[in-house]
This record gives sequence, C-alpha cells and structure tokens, in this order.
Amino acid sequence: MSSCPWCLEQIPFRWRKAPACPHCGRALQVSQDELVRPIDVRYPDVVLAVEAGLRRLLMPGLLVVLAGLLAAQFFAPLVVLVWLGHLVALRWLVVRDARRVLGKSRRFFTRWLVRLLFLTVGLTGYGLAATPMVGPIPGLATYLLLNWLVSRYVLWSLARERQRLPLALWEKAILGLLLVLVLVVFSCMGAGVYLVFWVWGKSAAFWHWLGFGG
Ligand SMILES: [Zn+2]
Repeated sequence: MSSCPWCLEQIPFRWRKAPACPHCGRALQVSQDELVRPIDVRYPDVVLAVEAGLRRLLMPGLLVVLAGLLAAQFFAPLVVLVWLGHLVALRWLVVRDARRVLGKSRRFFTRWLVRLLFLTVGLTGYGLAATPMVGPIPGLATYLLLNWLVSRYVLWSLARERQRLPLALWEKAILGLLLVLVLVVFSCMGAGVYLVFWVWGKSAAFWHWLGFGG
C-alpha cells in the first residue's frame, strides 16, 4: 500500500507496517496480516457509482442507441459504430470505477469478460441489428442484455472482493466458454464471407456461360 485508503495521503515507507495512518490516525490493518484496502472504505460509493452509470446507460443511452439503430436501417455499417460506442460507454460508466478497487485477478476478469461478451453476444446481436425492418428489435435487446450482464457481474465482483472471496469456478468456466464462442463466431463470419464470394464467383461464371458480361 502506497497511500492511505481513508485520506488518500501518501504513507512514507517506514510507516507502511504501522497499525494506523500517520496523517488521519485511522486504522491501516483489519487484522494481524490483513491491511485495510480501498474497497473496504469505498465499497458503498463505488456501488452507487456503478448504479448511477447503469441509469445513464438506460436514459439517455437507450434513446441514443435507438437513434443509431434507426439510422443503421438506412446505412447498415452504422451498427459497427453503435457496437463500439456501447463498449466504450459501458466501460466508462460502469466498469471503470469498479476496476480501481478490485484486486489484480478481478481486474483481469472484468476486462476480458466485457471484451469477450462484446465479441460474442455483441457482434451477433448488433450484426442482426443490420437486418432490414426488424433490426432495431435485436439491437435494443442486445443493448439491454449486455448492460444487464456486465453491471450484474461488476456488482457481484465488488461484493466478492470486499468479502475477500476467491474467484468462483463458474467465472473461470464462463471466461473459457466465451473464448470458445469467440472462435466459433469468427469461424462463422469467415465461412459466411467465403460463401458469399463463392456464390458470387459461381453466379459470375453462370452469367458468363449464358453469354452475359465480358
Ligand atoms: Zn489516512
């Protein structure tokens, strides 16, 4: 620990084993070998910040996304912008404050869970959002689902971290499963692109055979 979790003042090296902060006098140790961590002090504030961030994602966030999805009906590549904007906004509003008070392994897990969710659920859902007419429905569903999954996970991680509990087995399993899903999604996308070019090549040859084209 380089600074006091209570008053945030720097603690000189010779004081780092001290039972109390030399600046504010508050305890630096929970027990003999456990120090007071920032999460012990800031947990209620961080939970409020995460909940406030989630509310901003719902309003005005939902309206912004709806506008983006409707615009994408006229210009499909805009769904990429919605996907990317959502990732940035979610990390900024919900994940950022929480990660500051999480331990090393939970910082790693929250970062990668968000990334992998956006590469699986996000790419699939926002990909469907490019569908003509009905696109905004899967688009909005994806937006709400990702917000819900990520904020639930972040709040759960904060509670577990505060109780000094280890990562659960299902967290590791889900991260592994998402990694496999990313590979599946990218293989499907690769196969899709290949199929389009294959059909396009075959039809070009077909038209050529009929006597059309050069
Ligand atoms: Zn202090």
